[in-house]
Amino acid sequence: MTKFSELNLNPKVLKAIEEAGYDTPTPIQAGAIPPALEGRDVLGIAQTGTGKTASFTLPMITLLARGRARARMPRSLVLCPTRELAAQVAENFDIYAKNVKLTKALLIGGVSFKEQDALIDKGVDVLIATPGRLLDHFERGKLLLTGVQVMVVDEADRMLDMGFIPDIERIFSLTPFTRQTLFFSATMAPEIERITNTFLSAPARIEVARQATASETITQGVVMFKASRRDREGTEKRALLRKLIELEGDACSNAIIFCNRKSDVDIVAKSLKKYGFDAAPIHGDLDQSQRMKTLDGFREGTLRFLVASDVAARGLDVPAVSHVFNFDVPSHAEDYVHRIGRTGRAGRKGKAMMICGPKDEKNFDAIEKLIQKEIPRVENPLGHVETEATTDASDEKKENKSRRSRGGRGRSKSSDKPQETKVEAQEQVQTEAPKETSKRDDDQKPEQDRSRNRRNDRGGRNDRGGRDSNVVGMGDHMPSFIALSFDERRAG
Ligand code: AMP
Repeated sequence: MTKFSELNLNPKVLKAIEEAGYDTPTPIQAGAIPPALEGRDVLGIAQTGTGKTASFTLPMITLLARGRARARMPRSLVLCPTRELAAQVAENFDIYAKNVKLTKALLIGGVSFKEQDALIDKGVDVLIATPGRLLDHFERGKLLLTGVQVMVVDEADRMLDMGFIPDIERIFSLTPFTRQTLFFSATMAPEIERITNTFLSAPARIEVARQATASETITQGVVMFKASRRDREGTEKRALLRKLIELEGDACSNAIIFCNRKSDVDIVAKSLKKYGFDAAPIHGDLDQSQRMKTLDGFREGTLRFLVASDVAARGLDVPAVSHVFNFDVPSHAEDYVHRIGRTGRAGRKGKAMMICGPKDEKNFDAIEKLIQKEIPRVENPLGHVETEATTDASDEKKENKSRRSRGGRGRSKSSDKPQETKVEAQEQVQTEAPKETSKRDDDQKPEQDRSRNRRNDRGGRNDRGGRDSNVVGMGDHMPSFIALSFDERRAG
């Protein structure tokens, strides 16, 4: 097997690699470093977790170790789709270039232009940037790209997803034709193929195996979940997530929980927190300093649960993540591979659990087809009907019914709608935590105490143990409060 020492890297870079604790290059490194050092273009088809960042930083540092940067004319450029990824690439440069005198600047949103301008004015060897921010600087006349000798495009497929391809093409056209290009993508979509055909010249193509096929250290599982009622889906799904986490016990030292929508990232994080889980959200709408703080906390182990969207977590390099929970089935099968690849890194063991609802089955099938493996089905640990959440659900059902009947029996369906929506909205915003707590409390309180809450819950859980104690669902049993006259109910 090749050793780093055989790769013609600068001795000072070799020393830094050794100090980082690595001696054997990963396949993408062994494949990409030699042609990159020869000055050739490289097309790396690899995803995060394969060691791809070092496969371009190590030859770049070696190539740039000689020579000096000129004011406002960076000598190399690394483009990343997200701020987090850009920050991670910058960290890699810090690790591997620590024995070499190189200057770098990070151009990402959320950091002041003034500081970044000052660095660029002095001249930098390596400029690491997100495409939009780089073009902002360029358009303000603060930056010249005509001195770029090496240009890296990292995670091109993600750039495509995020609509950055026109920016990338523009940036390519602003750099010298003679530049060397190192281009990385996890997949080769037709649009990516077109870009590489246009801007790369006779590249060395290195493709490494999909992580999904390599990551035998990850135990996977899926719970096929169906809510007892549509308007209880969110609540029951979050209860299931908590149960899945709890079942892992101490083995779950930390975890990333993925949601498809940013709004769900917030709701799930808030809900977990209310239940006493040490959780925080991360997605693109949060401000930069908050995202950095959350990520640092997760990396350092002071934050146990990171609730994330795909884009925010993409490329997130935390070596020891014990669990990944897919709160939602990702709509792109490849994202599943990326998501679960956050655990089981570098030969460690990891566990990835997913919740799949009836609407997700098509996407789920696509995942199993992609990974060519059946994901083991795990029984819903909360069972089907008599879960805590569904007990609450039946109460809410009663609540809905009570509200409807308050409006009179003869009301049209459409006039009921706003009421239902309101219940759903309440549930989303407040999350369900306080309910469970109060429910437990309630169950231990004497009947007269419970009656105090009756006004708030109206025919809800406080009827338990009372006249309606047998009522758990719609069935053909009519809860007695429905039979009460309007005035009586109001008085109750
Ligand atoms: P990346 O694919 O660049 O996100 O890297 C994934 C992880 O692999 C990072 O934690 C790196 O520090 C680590 N890594 C990089 N190169 C090596 C190597 N040659 N041997 C072992 N781990 C490595």
